[in-house]
Amino acid sequence: MRILLIEDEHKIAQALKRGLEQESFAVDVLYNGRQGMARALRGRFDLLILDRMLPDIRDGLDICREVRKAGIHQPILILTARDRTSDRVEGLESGADDYLVKPFSFEELLARIRALLRRPNHNIGTVLKAGDLELYPEKFEVKRDGQMIALSHKEFALLEFLIRNANRILSKDQIIQHVWDFDADILPNTVEAFIASLRKKVDRPFKGKPMINTVRGFGYQLKSPA
Ligand code: CA
Repeated sequence: MRILLIEDEHKIAQALKRGLEQESFAVDVLYNGRQGMARALRGRFDLLILDRMLPDIRDGLDICREVRKAGIHQPILILTARDRTSDRVEGLESGADDYLVKPFSFEELLARIRALLRRPNHNIGTVLKAGDLELYPEKFEVKRDGQMIALSHKEFALLEFLIRNANRILSKDQIIQHVWDFDADILPNTVEAFIASLRKKVDRPFKGKPMINTVRGFGYQLKSPA
């Protein structure tokens, strides 16, 4: 899952990026309001974390309002130093889904992110299933036919994206946009390499039809038996 983080404090932003990447999210960071806004309006994220106080715009909530106006419905979590009821209400009224007051613990942020991604639209529960394949996003575990499979963070993120979009054909570009952050040095054949290593771990050791399929000229598809 790909997170867009708009936060002008470099130290906080870098710490969050590192922590979230450990949890197998792809994280794009923008350090100011204008670029953040432009980026957010392109919509290519699964969740937006937005600092309310940014030096170059009046109020971070303006980004939130513009994103909603543009018809983008992904969850938005606001970070703020202010903790008055009126601020919280204003945040939620601008279209944000949740509100976290600084300083906060990373564990709490993570719990809220997980909760937001579990909501309807993203609501596939805490275990994602496709046939005999099971993926537990919160425990960072994958099993097939009851057997634990060890994956790297990127392989895990890629498999999670494939399972969440089971039976859909996904282009390499779509995969790159959701699994890697924008400054990652990623080429289409990097995707091929990761697909190949996933196959080796998820398909090859198991009997039965391979689940990860190449759709020639289009991309990849994880087939989930009905
Ligand atoms: Ca700030």
